[in-house]
Amino acid sequence: MTGPELKFKDQVVIVTGSSSGIGKACAIYFANQGAHVVVNYSSNAEEGQNTLNEILNKGGSAILVQADVSREDDVLALFRETISKFGRLDVLVSNAGLQKDSPFLEMSLQQWQKVIDVNLTGMFLCCRAAARQFIEQEKNATETSHSELSIGKIVMMSSVHDVIPWAGHVNYAASKGGIMMFMKSISQELAPHKIRVNSVSPGAIKTPINKEVWSDPEKYKGLMNLIPYKRIGTPQDVAKAVGWLASDESDYVNGETLYIDGGMTLYPEFADNG
Ligand code: NAD
Repeated sequence: MTGPELKFKDQVVIVTGSSSGIGKACAIYFANQGAHVVVNYSSNAEEGQNTLNEILNKGGSAILVQADVSREDDVLALFRETISKFGRLDVLVSNAGLQKDSPFLEMSLQQWQKVIDVNLTGMFLCCRAAARQFIEQEKNATETSHSELSIGKIVMMSSVHDVIPWAGHVNYAASKGGIMMFMKSISQELAPHKIRVNSVSPGAIKTPINKEVWSDPEKYKGLMNLIPYKRIGTPQDVAKAVGWLASDESDYVNGETLYIDGGMTLYPEFADNG
């Protein structure tokens, strides 16, 4: 991809969990904007390959790396492969996440642990690796290459359930609530290094994670009661917001959560006088 108008020309971007859904849309968005993209998958190599092919077929630059974000060795290897192939890192989109739903009273320790491991510990491992890399490459930068702008950007994929409680999904809501304070705390700690850290919190986005809801007409109708804007979101809606937070256009934005939710967090039950 070439052209002066490309927002991420020659920047290196890792998108975790980009074999599917929102992560896939983010990977394609950054590649279309001129970035070198690291597509990551955990277990579905075919889906990972599909994302990679979509980028390469349009003339984009990308590699595919398998890594389970909840495993420290895998995360370190993901970053090593990125640096060995592209030489640096500019943006981390820490997106990988999953649900293991169950009523609280029946929730197993395994269901709890799996979601916390992937959604929250995975976030810790990836963000720590990215921040260390940003600082390392800044140390090695030449005097003339220093700029007033951020030296590295992290965007975390949270959820409206970082503020909306969610019965039957307490592991997921706890992980996303945890991301909120994790994101703000590391943003505070990393801002003096000129690293920017922010989150996006999607509402209902049409991806495999919630197929059970949007593929059932009755459940879809119920969902619309929760969305003032009266449509389900698309992965591209989220990718564009991630792109803005990762771009220099948002250079003075630190520790913020951007809700991409068609108004889901606006207490829709009160729209008709409550
Ligand atoms: P999805 O199931 O399509 O994608 C999830 C991605 O995460 C997949 O690529 C999967 O391979 C990857 N993944 C899962 N476990 C992993 C692991 N251990 N290591 C590496 N990758 C792993 O779902 P999605 O909707 O695209 O979800 C992406 C993110 O968006 C998640 O963090 C999810 O919580 C968040 N989110 C989604 C919605 C929605 O409505 N779809 C709403 C709010 C937040």
